[in-house]
Amino acid sequence: MSKIKIAELFYSIQGEGRYMGVPSVFLRTFGCNFKCAGFGMPKGELSTEVEAIASRIHEFKKYEELPLVSTGCDSYASWDPRFKDLSPMLTTDAIADRITQILPFNEWQDEHLVITGGEPLLGWQRAYPDLLIHPKMANLKEITFETNGTQKLTPEFKNFLIEWQMPHVDFTPEVTFSVSAKLSCSGEERHEAIRPDIVCEYEEVGYAYLKFVVATEEDAEEAIETADIYRAEGFTGPVYLMPVGGVESVYTLNNRRVAELAMKNGLRYSDRLQVPLFKNEWGT
Ligand code: SF4
Repeated sequence: MSKIKIAELFYSIQGEGRYMGVPSVFLRTFGCNFKCAGFGMPKGELSTEVEAIASRIHEFKKYEELPLVSTGCDSYASWDPRFKDLSPMLTTDAIADRITQILPFNEWQDEHLVITGGEPLLGWQRAYPDLLIHPKMANLKEITFETNGTQKLTPEFKNFLIEWQMPHVDFTPEVTFSVSAKLSCSGEERHEAIRPDIVCEYEEVGYAYLKFVVATEEDAEEAIETADIYRAEGFTGPVYLMPVGGVESVYTLNNRRVAELAMKNGLRYSDRLQVPLFKNEWGT
């Protein structure tokens, strides 16, 4: 039986992208290949907010007790090794059990599964088949992988996902890749963050879209230029602009502006409903 290191497992409303508003189980895996310390910072500067939290790590017994941050990656504890002990390693059996406990009717109905991170397409690709073929997951119809779009699918996992989407008697399961490709405002290196070859491969397996986190007109211009690079490699999915802001004060400063930039450029707007609805607390 496979195991996955889980930072969070909770039931909420999907606040972003294609399934915005859909009741969803979120499985947040541990580990990421990026840090995204540039979010919310002046150009060229990196956030150090997490350093102060890490220096008080002994004060926090549970993941949910950790402070939220207004700059850098808002899910820092799902990949920063200093917080790794707050994320248990669970068997796929235990995960399937917990999922049925948190579903409102203790079985899959119209809910959607979001596998997020961290970066969920790191090594856990080898464990997901065990989870997805578990009898308690039999009625699951839709999965989204929220990925940064830099991790190639293994041939085994790619084949598994294609087979998983074979029509059932009364429904056809569907896989979505919500690709949050990182622009320069993330602080990550462009040649590592922008991998159209990998994202085009996701389109061979499921529905994929690009979702760029932006704060300014300059970011929106970079998003449009970057989307063109993906298009030139053959990417066909839609493109969303989403406001930066893991805390409400930052989000409300730029959500309307980003919606206007999306309209002006004929792109889709993604909200982050978890911020106005739930203040982006852990477990939302
Ligand atoms: S890719 Fe996502 S999870 Fe990883 S550091 Fe960046 S924002 Fe955080």
